[in-house]
Amino acid sequence: MDPAAAAAALFRSTFAAEPAAVAIAPGRVNLIGEHTDYNGLPVLPFAIGQSTAVAVAPSGAGLLEGVSREFPEPARLPLGADPAACPEPWHRYLAAAAAVLGPRLSGRGARIAVASDLPPASGLSSSSALTVALLLALDAAFGLGLDRAALAAFAAQAERLAGAETGGMDQQVIAFAEAGALLRIDFLPPAMRPVPVPAGWAFVVASSGQPAPKGGAARDAYNERVVATRIAAALLADMLGAEIEGTPLLGHVAAIDAAPVLVDELPARSSARKAAAAAGIPLERLVTLAAGAFDPDAQLPVRAYARHVLAEAERVDLACAAVEAGDLAALGELMAASHASLRDDYRCSTPALDALVKAMTRAGAAGARLTGAGFGGFAIAVCERGREQAVIGAAAAAAGGPAFEVAPSAGARLA
Ligand code: ADP
Ligand code: MG
Repeated sequence: MDPAAAAAALFRSTFAAEPAAVAIAPGRVNLIGEHTDYNGLPVLPFAIGQSTAVAVAPSGAGLLEGVSREFPEPARLPLGADPAACPEPWHRYLAAAAAVLGPRLSGRGARIAVASDLPPASGLSSSSALTVALLLALDAAFGLGLDRAALAAFAAQAERLAGAETGGMDQQVIAFAEAGALLRIDFLPPAMRPVPVPAGWAFVVASSGQPAPKGGAARDAYNERVVATRIAAALLADMLGAEIEGTPLLGHVAAIDAAPVLVDELPARSSARKAAAAAGIPLERLVTLAAGAFDPDAQLPVRAYARHVLAEAERVDLACAAVEAGDLAALGELMAASHASLRDDYRCSTPALDALVKAMTRAGAAGARLTGAGFGGFAIAVCERGREQAVIGAAAAAAGGPAFEVAPSAGARLA
């Protein structure tokens, strides 16, 4: 049963009533443009066919009652429940959606049933699919009149209340994607553009067998890269004599032609304290940027990290051109270059991801790369239609995790 039918059926069997609205929101995967977003540089994700459906009806009770086909613990929360205080993690998303809508719900509660065919917690953004579908269903059931931009913004805000660090790109692609197209998202200045994909191409995602890590060492590794790329941006802005308002981002200096050449003049390794002083960034600001634990004397590979980000942004431009020209070989080469850069310069691949990318390429993919933050999680490959089963088979044999086709699909919608 597809998720929309399953969510509606679960609603009927749980609450012995008809849902007022059923909404569907897809998961997403990023084709290219990794670790560019928080540097103000573009990404090229697409929504996938796998999705989460949410069936909703208003209730008079001031209560949120929720059930999920995938998570057995039912929810029964007062309308004003603090999302962070819910002991069952999936209940946080219900409390968070209600919290961001606030007085728009006029104190009424809701009954909610969820069903999904997205593997949860594997990097395909099942959390954003749930949040966007829930908000869209509540919008329809309560007649709130939210537009797509409000839907994406509320969803990002709700996920942050539920405890996730999220920049908003996932919610944006899930809200705005068009069937058969990638969605190029720019941040400086904000812009969005669908990039239609030739019908003869197929995309495969495959798990490395290692979960994408969260918290602890993974958060420190991520923070180190955020800080190092901010330092690189400040140093480059200084070298270029560029006046930038606020915190310089690599996205600001990337627009200046000489930036990619000057990257080679950055310090290869530097302690954050020394590099921050040279860049004129107060140390306290760096500590604030790094939300987790942060050692200001750690040696950061500033040059290598900056080189990845600037080159990756250029690859997003070239990838859009390759997709528009129907040049599969060119796109494949860009994906291979992206993976090599993530492995060697950004240092966020793993031997399992490297082996997976190699296996998919050997099996006939035009190109493959890790997708998501790295250190585990998934890889994505592109191939000519007809070769996807060979690529899926090779990926499953290499990594032992799930591997399946994903097709650029429409964004969130009512069933
Ligand atoms: P990802 O977004 O990459 O899938 P996250 O850890 O951000 O991984 O989100 C996964 C969480 O989202 C789950 O642990 C659960 O709390 C919630 N979730 C996802 N899918 C569902 C579902 N079908 N029903 C209820 N909660 C879900
Ligand atoms: Mg998530």
